[in-house]
Amino acid sequence: MKLVGYRISGFDNGTCMFDAYPSNSTCSKCGMRLDLLAYNPLYVSGKFRRSSLLYTYDGFPIVSQQFKDFIELQGFPNVDCHAFVNDPRRFFLTSKNIVPYDCNSPYLERDEYCSACERFVSVATGSKNAFVTLREPLPNGIFQTDLTFGHQNEQSPILLVGIETKRLMEKFGLRGISYGRAYRR
Ligand SMILES: [Zn+2]
Repeated sequence: MKLVGYRISGFDNGTCMFDAYPSNSTCSKCGMRLDLLAYNPLYVSGKFRRSSLLYTYDGFPIVSQQFKDFIELQGFPNVDCHAFVNDPRRFFLTSKNIVPYDCNSPYLERDEYCSACERFVSVATGSKNAFVTLREPLPNGIFQTDLTFGHQNEQSPILLVGIETKRLMEKFGLRGISYGRAYRR
């Protein structure tokens, strides 16, 4: 296996993006949100923590103003920091740079296939690392996997960064971020 980048994650921040999901936004069979990246612009992130990246209980990565400043300074393409109306210093981070997860990874476990929405309700990677299908290492930037991980409505993609990006993030002083490794075969 070859190192192609890093997986980034953070602690949970003790809040949920959604209190409830409108019934027309969930699968009528399994109850999972149809659009796992649709977010709630009225969300408020709760008590202040010093981490640059935290996750809601329902799997949304929330970044700090400093992380957003870093992204803008680097000029990363296709990376979005979605704003919250009532919480101007926190942002929901997504990337349109999609990396295919290695579906042949022995660590990938998928259960409870829903025939209505054609997704697995439970997706786990039994590793703090990520396994992806790529020819070359990731360039400097922020990426996310095509697969989402977690149970039901807590599912979200894995965020990945380039090898150089990790160094730049640490140098910039971003904190509270845990780095796993991203490998390809
Ligand atoms: Zn379903």
